Amino acid sequence: MQIEKLDVSTFEIPLEKEESDGTLSWDSTTVVTVQPTAAGHTGLGFTYGSAACALVIRDHLVDLVTGADPLDVTGTWERMVRAIRNLGRPGIASMAISAVDAALWDLKARILEVPLFHLFGAVRDEVPVYGSGGFCSLDEDELRAQLGGWVHDTGIPRVKMKIAAGWGADPGRDLERVGLARAAIGPEAELMVDANGGYTRKQAVRVAHELEYLGVTWFEEPVSSDDLEGLGEIRAMTRLDVAAGEYGYRLMDFRDLLPVVDVLQPDVGRCGGITEWLRVAALCAAHSIEVSSHTAQSLSVHPCCATPNLRHVEYFADHARAERLLFDGVLEPTGGMLRPDPSRPGAGLQLKDTDAERYRRD
Ligand SMILES: [Mg+2]
Repeated sequence: MQIEKLDVSTFEIPLEKEESDGTLSWDSTTVVTVQPTAAGHTGLGFTYGSAACALVIRDHLVDLVTGADPLDVTGTWERMVRAIRNLGRPGIASMAISAVDAALWDLKARILEVPLFHLFGAVRDEVPVYGSGGFCSLDEDELRAQLGGWVHDTGIPRVKMKIAAGWGADPGRDLERVGLARAAIGPEAELMVDANGGYTRKQAVRVAHELEYLGVTWFEEPVSSDDLEGLGEIRAMTRLDVAAGEYGYRLMDFRDLLPVVDVLQPDVGRCGGITEWLRVAALCAAHSIEVSSHTAQSLSVHPCCATPNLRHVEYFADHARAERLLFDGVLEPTGGMLRPDPSRPGAGLQLKDTDAERYRRD
């Protein structure tokens, strides 16, 4: 059995309105998809990366993957990592590998006719999610509607919002918005915040202190994830869980973060794919740290089902929208959980061939 071909596509889904967090704004969601074919089956993997990922896949990975044994996913992964040595592993190259890796696991599960989460050895058949959005660009009504809607209408008992608007320009305003969010979701729901590295160390410590009074439990990237010492300082000065890990591109990045966070957030579309994600989860288990999977919920849910030390999966608003537009078989949360369909082989997703075309970029 050989992989006969590997199709690579880029889709760009415009947003109705520009969105922003504390340190970045964006007006579209880009998805690079990979579809390998072998033995009459086609797999599907993707990354929420730049169109540059597609270029890396075409120029550096397609020839290597074509002709490989579709059952030997980790062997192909190893060869991909070796092949991009001179490109640099973190960033685009790692995201390119992530998309191919997810597609290869999906293909293998389809060939073996098992759901992807069973292939990894599931320890659970559903995973808790948190609703993630609360962008700085939302006005007060939109903020209340989104976060309150997840809690009261969709039944997700935990939500996350963005703070540190304009690189932490007005922490008092950030805290006002957190207060609004708390009022919208009620006293019982869990409230989490993400500063996207927008605060200085001392700003973050002061904000953390106030967040405790608002019943917030999670403070993500209070300072830049590049500032390991700063993360560690803030963690020592707050009762909130300090979380980071979305910019981990290889196992060693997560090793470096482990001593300075309470929860690690590997992203299956960035960290090197499902292959590396599962290693990150094992590394965390050895340090009694829980994993919370960062975004790409429709893919994340499968390795998460095979992870004993899982806290939850991020149900990210933009990705929920993109996945509904591009794929059939997308999971919707019920009772705060995502439950992969055990009757569907692989990840259970299918590219909507005609509907997706309007978003095709190349
Ligand atoms: Mg984040």
